[in-house]
Amino acid sequence: MFENLSERLSGVFDRLTKQGALSEDDVKTALREVRVALLEADVSLPVAREFVKKVQDQATGQAVTKSVTPGQQVVKIVHDALVDTLKGAEDPGRLKIDNPPAPILMVGLQGGGKTTTTGKIAKRLKEREGKKVLLASLDIYRPAAMDQLAILGAQIGVDTLPIVKGQTPVDIAKRAKQQAALGGYDVYMLDTAGRLQIDEVLMKEVQDVAAVVDPRETLLVVDGLTGQVAVEVAEEFDAKIGITGVVLTRMDGDGRGGAALSMRAVTGKPIRFVGLGEKMDALETFEPERIAGRILGMGDIVALVEKAQDTIEAEQAERMMKRFQKGQFNMNDLKMQLEQMQKMGGMEGIMGMMPGMGKMAKQVQDAGFDDKIITRQIALVQSMTKRERANPQILQASRKKRIAAGAGMEVSDLNKLLKMHRQMSDMMKKLGKGKGGMLKQAMKG
Ligand code: GDP
Repeated sequence: MFENLSERLSGVFDRLTKQGALSEDDVKTALREVRVALLEADVSLPVAREFVKKVQDQATGQAVTKSVTPGQQVVKIVHDALVDTLKGAEDPGRLKIDNPPAPILMVGLQGGGKTTTTGKIAKRLKEREGKKVLLASLDIYRPAAMDQLAILGAQIGVDTLPIVKGQTPVDIAKRAKQQAALGGYDVYMLDTAGRLQIDEVLMKEVQDVAAVVDPRETLLVVDGLTGQVAVEVAEEFDAKIGITGVVLTRMDGDGRGGAALSMRAVTGKPIRFVGLGEKMDALETFEPERIAGRILGMGDIVALVEKAQDTIEAEQAERMMKRFQKGQFNMNDLKMQLEQMQKMGGMEGIMGMMPGMGKMAKQVQDAGFDDKIITRQIALVQSMTKRERANPQILQASRKKRIAAGAGMEVSDLNKLLKMHRQMSDMMKKLGKGKGGMLKQAMKG
């Protein structure tokens, strides 16, 4: 999977990571090569463009640290952008199969690997989740296809619906639904007929079947080797019948792999599984982190940069702490603290995380301290000039009036904020002076 792309990219980044300093031109050249590599892997043009732009934006304005080279940092950014581009479903392997019997519709073109994948997923549901699965083939045009599914079923120990000659796909679907309910099955999977090309008859047939069973999941199986064609097929199927996910097959081949990168960005539909061979076990859930790792093949560098980034954060915290100890807790610091609180879900969120604090969170809220206050406090700080934020002690009546008005609030609101700042500032000083530096310990923890 992805051999060519992987090789091309590692060529680019090997050169980059060996260089000490990087000029803007170095990065530009590298990114141009990345773009070409993506296009050669059959990634769609808009996706490749967006990808390079994402990396470029990130690469400028990165905090640099001595422990990693700029090239290594670019590798990490590319890795993150890959993960982001690949990201689709929250939990790709989890199919919606509550409320048994849950129907799963398998659709796709002929030869894409639909029947094989149906067997693979059935085996997975049976073995990993202990589900009782019923399989039914709706391919009335190729008796061999029906036999193929029956053989697969026997091989993996999963029941298949008995074949009755002369029935329409809708008849068979109805029979499967009934049998699944009567037989106490958790899931029934319908393997629809494929065509060599998308045609109206095929789409109509699938629509009719979907109307009868109301599938919980409609999975499109497409050949990953076909690159952008696979993405186009997905777009068409989704437009006509609505799909809930994609399975990319033949990813064990040395294909160009572009479909994996374009699929979500172009169709908005997540890849749920990848097929990695003909055997019934050759199915993997689509994990962006792992796939990005395979494409880039530079896991060591990614880990190294991650560690360095942690160090930068620790250094920043350390610097902040030193200032607090000296009593330098200004309005910018306060604003940062407030924003941090907001990020953690406000007062309620923070208290909810502490055992036994749930009730108190409610009391605090009843007392009128809700999260809107944090937003308003931040607005007050934003209404101050740079100088005022750094030295809140210069705030006299006229400045206060202007700041409050700027934030659409009263001077009394601002006074409350200033009082809170003074209290926090005192607390920081005390903590800083405490034995062994309580603040230091708190921040380390
Ligand atoms: P269908 O017409 O869509 O039902 O396709 P089949 O399930 O019959 O598969 C067509 C061929 O592709 C068979 O020979 C399968 O063994 C093979 N196949 C299916 N999935 C994969 C895969 O992930 N990797 C490889 N290498 N072969 C696969």
